[in-house]
Amino acid sequence: MNQPLKQHLIDPEICIRCYTCEMTCPVGAITHDDNNVVVDAANCNFCMDCIPVCPTGSIDEWRVVTVPYSLEEQFSWAELPVQQDVGSESEQIEALDEVMAALLADAHKGAGGKAKAPASAAKPSVNLYNIGKPAIAKVQGSYRLTSEDSGTEVRHIILDFGAQPFPVLEGQSIGIIPPGVGADGKPHLPRLYSVSSPRDGERPNYNNIALTVKREEHGTCSNYVCNLRKGDEVSVAGPFGATFLMPDDPSARLLMICTGTGSAPFRAFTMRRQRMAASSGDMMIFFGARTPDSLPYFGPLNKVPERLLKKHLVFSRLPGAEKEYVQDRMMAEQEAITELLADPDTHIYICGLRGMEEGVERAFSQIAEGIGEHWETMRDAMRVAGRYHVETY
Ligand code: FAD
Repeated sequence: MNQPLKQHLIDPEICIRCYTCEMTCPVGAITHDDNNVVVDAANCNFCMDCIPVCPTGSIDEWRVVTVPYSLEEQFSWAELPVQQDVGSESEQIEALDEVMAALLADAHKGAGGKAKAPASAAKPSVNLYNIGKPAIAKVQGSYRLTSEDSGTEVRHIILDFGAQPFPVLEGQSIGIIPPGVGADGKPHLPRLYSVSSPRDGERPNYNNIALTVKREEHGTCSNYVCNLRKGDEVSVAGPFGATFLMPDDPSARLLMICTGTGSAPFRAFTMRRQRMAASSGDMMIFFGARTPDSLPYFGPLNKVPERLLKKHLVFSRLPGAEKEYVQDRMMAEQEAITELLADPDTHIYICGLRGMEEGVERAFSQIAEGIGEHWETMRDAMRVAGRYHVETY
């Protein structure tokens, strides 16, 4: 049986026959007769150059097929054929974009409603690369961030995209496609990882990004990524995410709450603010870990001046000390949080393990109650204004 293929087609009902796509296609895969403009599956290399130039959107049509539609068939169409059932593997390939979107939507659901980007956020690029046409990044470095005996391995991994455009904004994620197939014989699905470097690169003005990845016992992708070494090549989809973004307004104040690798986007936010010449609104972070040696970026974080980033590093397993979680420190700092909540310039970001949400929500509820406010009402208003963001997984 033929391998399923995602075939590029043009919708004859919408196409206005302007032939711009045909003139744009760098490999001559698009052609026409008196009836229709069509794509030759044998030549199309999925470069996507034709997509943005189409004035109607009729060019952006795809069907998963086992035998591609011939040029003759396409010339005869008055309308596109419906998607045929070609088996579960191809359906899986077809559904991948939706899978990534669903993963993100699930990660954002803790915000209590439809996520919205900050009003001043820059416009993100999304879905430039996918599983059929991934970007190939080269590993520039991989460094362990947590101590050998902390029981948790989190690594800082730098990926270089060379000449391939891969624009990201702070807060976006990328999809890493682990090689090979699973026990079911199907290719592995990509996993999402937050970009932990700012938009101008891990190194300023280099086309590279950083990731902060925790090795999960038996985890397919996290082990693949944590085992990568300098020079290895990685297939990358994305970028993904259009709402968990930082405001570009320099006066915006950021309240960031995270555990573990949830710190990744906040490293990017902090570096962005550090690299901006103009003075900016203050930032406060509540960052929970078991111990200092299991807290990613403990050393570099401590070097960030308090006037830029007010740090609350909170530990739940410090020998000889009581367990403390982010919500405990939030309660201890409720005066500062109350002041932030009252300021319309404040943006709240929560990122990390899903388990952290409950305690953080409880702390916000108690703090809001203390000033006679109803937290869910406040939170929903902030979310609708693009000022309340949750990304948990
Ligand atoms: P999988 O193979 O998918 O396994 C999932 C879980 O099952 C793992 O915990 C694994 O331990 C367990 N498991 C698998 N097989 C077995 C087995 N045989 N026996 C017992 N247990 C098993 N992660 C980061 O590290 N850094 C990030 O910045 C980051 N950002 C994210 C952003 C978003 C928006 C989302 C949704 C997720 C993010 N993640 C991040 C999580 C990441 O996408 C992966 O889910 C994570 O790395 C685990 O993937 P995996 O392939 O290693 O595990």
